[in-house]
Amino acid sequence: MLKITPYLGILVVIVSIVGLWYPILGYMMPLVILILMVTSVSKGRWFCGNLCPRGSFIDFWIGKVTKNKKIPKSLKSYWVRIPIFVLLMGFMTYRILNTQGLINQIGMIFVIMCLVTTAIALVLGVGISPRTWCTFCPMGTAQNLIGGKKHQLQIIDSKCISCKKCDKVCPMQLDVHKGEIKPDCIKCERCVDACPTKALGFEA
Ligand code: SF4
Ligand code: SF4
Ligand code: SF4
Repeated sequence: MLKITPYLGILVVIVSIVGLWYPILGYMMPLVILILMVTSVSKGRWFCGNLCPRGSFIDFWIGKVTKNKKIPKSLKSYWVRIPIFVLLMGFMTYRILNTQGLINQIGMIFVIMCLVTTAIALVLGVGISPRTWCTFCPMGTAQNLIGGKKHQLQIIDSKCISCKKCDKVCPMQLDVHKGEIKPDCIKCERCVDACPTKALGFEA
């Protein structure tokens, strides 16, 4: 299965920094959004754990310097996430509609959005836990709502010894050992690899 690599994270730096001089690079952002929307229909948040450039940046770069604290529960609430989704998407749409359709101006809006959200992800990732931003990222919320119930993690109860090693490695800080639906699982498979009894796996 495809696994996230450190090299994908370089794309975030290129778009956020080089994009300030070459705004055309900002168009990577709608391309990423299109891909994650399509994959979310059948795989939920699979894109977040396997193909997202910012996810890679967070895992491999921020992961080295994080304080690794508990992500506040409030950030996982739809009451927080949906307003953030509406605010950020509304703001971006408003800005685009005010550009008179100029290619470079629109590209620069995507670049600035990428830069600002990556800066927020960086601060939260270092100060709290690497995937804190991914807890309420509008694109994570969109995938959660579209296909959160798809491609679920399965637990074979008879094999589980309740060691909770799966919980400890989960970057989204989910209660992995509980056999409930996990719409915010990013399908990174770290829990599967960590389980000593092979009690975990994904449905097709
Ligand atoms: S939540 Fe957002 S930033 Fe995080 S991996 Fe998913 S799409 Fe990327
Ligand atoms: S790591 Fe495996 S055995 Fe341990 S609690 Fe999780 S599912 Fe159960
Ligand atoms: S439940 Fe497992 S696959 Fe899902 S995010 Fe947590 S560690 Fe990754």
